[in-house]
Amino acid sequence: MKNILITAVVADKEGKIFELEGYAAVGMSADNFTALSTGNTINMPYGGEFMLLPDRRPVVFNLKTKRLETLKENPYSPGDPVFPVAAFNSPGYVISHVSAYREKQAAKQLPLFSYGAIGWYKGGFRTAVILVDEEKRQDLRLMPLEKVIAGVRSIKKKMPNNRLCDHIENCALKYGCPAAKNFFLGRYEAPLPTSKNCNARCIGCISLQRDSEIRNSQDRISFTPSPVEIAEIALEHIGRVKRSVVSFGQGCEGDPLLAAHVIEPAIKLIRSKTGSGTINMNTNGSLPEIMERLFDAGLDSIRISMNSVREKCYDAYFRPRGYGFSDVIKSIDKALDKKIFVSINYLNCPGFTDSSEEKRALFSFLKTHPVNFLQWRNLNFDPLRYCKIMSGITLISEPVGISEVLSMIRKEFPDLKHGYFNPPKEIF
Ligand code: SF4
Repeated sequence: MKNILITAVVADKEGKIFELEGYAAVGMSADNFTALSTGNTINMPYGGEFMLLPDRRPVVFNLKTKRLETLKENPYSPGDPVFPVAAFNSPGYVISHVSAYREKQAAKQLPLFSYGAIGWYKGGFRTAVILVDEEKRQDLRLMPLEKVIAGVRSIKKKMPNNRLCDHIENCALKYGCPAAKNFFLGRYEAPLPTSKNCNARCIGCISLQRDSEIRNSQDRISFTPSPVEIAEIALEHIGRVKRSVVSFGQGCEGDPLLAAHVIEPAIKLIRSKTGSGTINMNTNGSLPEIMERLFDAGLDSIRISMNSVREKCYDAYFRPRGYGFSDVIKSIDKALDKKIFVSINYLNCPGFTDSSEEKRALFSFLKTHPVNFLQWRNLNFDPLRYCKIMSGITLISEPVGISEVLSMIRKEFPDLKHGYFNPPKEIF
């Protein structure tokens, strides 16, 4: 199909989104701008949400002058301000460009979301994303609220005194967490949040923000569930779901390694009752000795979060306390030695992730540490502020392109799997 430029969209101060004829939409990667076309966008997938970016001006491409323009006002209604619009895309899609804008003076930091670029073409929105996982695990259309409520009622009858069940109910009904909903619906992966504490201080932590102008989007679990409470949830899920996954390490907790004293006996309890189901841990991987004990207890897979495979960039985002990047690498190597399935939760920010410096580092990391799976996740952090922090540490040269990086990795590492969700052991 011929590449046709798509039309820019902006919002007025009431949040009404409209297209700007005569201007093409633009995507941003660090401080590079790319006109959006039918070739580098797809029709907006179901479930995406639109966001207006305050304190910012949209960057668009003027089709008449063939130049980029930063709009101070609506060109068709002088004096009326316009704002950039971005998409928070559905799970399974990784963004290739962020919405293009420039900050006004004294602009506040954007809240903890990812800000995908969008535009308008033939009566519909298009967005700059790449599909990395086709599974319908978190498709909202398959999670009707009445079914979730019915699931909550029936499971709570079975475990009336389980505090972890009450916590997950709150996640499903108050925060709309898809993983929590899936537990009550009996689908795919169930969450096992356990840890009140963390030994990192990620600048984009969604469960705790201290001394920051942004706030966390969920509250952390406020108690430590017992091994029996954890096992009860896990066994319920494993018992009724084919190819089930149960996962420690959720958005509403700290790092599960800091709750290993309850997780280790919980895993043993689960494994004393069943060999079925995949027991997974999403973690920062900071404590290799503790990780090893959990592998021995019966953990099947781990997913380690990394914004970068370079120590300095990792440190600037994770701000580790009492552990170092080398401990994370040690955990990965120990897991690979023990044939534990290892995924990297690779936090993607276009402009940084696809810079040739990070791409080179990723290739060399994958050669030395042949992990099994790359989960491409969108970094939920103000993209310009993130690139600014990183450019204080490393050179960020012109982006190679997220889509190009993905194809190069697929070619160079044909055995490495790519996706978005934790796979069940049946397809390891
Ligand atoms: S590792 Fe997870 S819980 Fe800990 S600070 Fe980072 S995002 Fe938050």
